[in-house]
Amino acid sequence: MTSRCLMIAAVLGCSLWAGSSVAQTDKPGVEKLYVLNCGEGVAGDISRWSPGVNVGKSMDFVDNCYLIKHAQGWLLWDTGLADAIAAMPEGQRPADPRMTHWRRPKTLASTLEQLGVKPSDIRYVAVSHTHPDHIGNVELFPQTMLLVQKAEYEWPAPFGARFKPEHPVQKLEGDHDVFGDGSVTIISTPGHTPGHQSLLVKLPKTGAVLLSGDAVHFKENWDNRRVPENNANKDQSVASMQRMADLIAQHKAQLWINHDKAQRDSQKMAPEFYD
Ligand SMILES: [Zn+2]
Repeated sequence: MTSRCLMIAAVLGCSLWAGSSVAQTDKPGVEKLYVLNCGEGVAGDISRWSPGVNVGKSMDFVDNCYLIKHAQGWLLWDTGLADAIAAMPEGQRPADPRMTHWRRPKTLASTLEQLGVKPSDIRYVAVSHTHPDHIGNVELFPQTMLLVQKAEYEWPAPFGARFKPEHPVQKLEGDHDVFGDGSVTIISTPGHTPGHQSLLVKLPKTGAVLLSGDAVHFKENWDNRRVPENNANKDQSVASMQRMADLIAQHKAQLWINHDKAQRDSQKMAPEFYD
């Protein structure tokens, strides 16, 4: 025990002081990250996501969830399309044929079961935003703390009630260091919706990964900084993409784009994982 520790112990109790010191100097707490198949679909006309560009062109989309194991507990990032869609033989046909016709090859519940993770094991559910392909299974985790931006939670969106009022929630205002050690950070990226957020994860071997949410939908739109026609705020969308680019440079991060099928085809899917 150091003399400084002894001195502080006299005032505060040394174990408390030593404990917080260890938490800050120990290796990063993220152990692994699983990419989960939370949907597959076909977008009818991708010019919805790039006004005037690629008009009438269709594209295969995917929908991902990401399950992160940290020493302090599990975090689920996005919950994907509702599990009920898995039981629809032809999937969920959109009202507007320019939008995405979604299917769910497998439920989130069965994917978690296969990994040996119970819904009650999940400490946090964080959602990028409140569109139905991202919050479809939030109520599979009725006791789990939701991490959502205040601006998103309070947004009177056109999709009706999104969260049960009794669901535990931490309403964020900006960036948030989830476990307090800098290894998993929610990044405020408004624009697609008023309280949209992305997630920066620092994996021990893979390195830093920025999970896009829907700040961008596929690589071509990222490369050209295109803003979808239905985004809540165009200027914020452009500013958020710039902020993401700055973070990617700063942390030498990979950008993982949630709906980009070509990218997902190159990735390891659960039960394989990234560490
Ligand atoms: Zn989406």
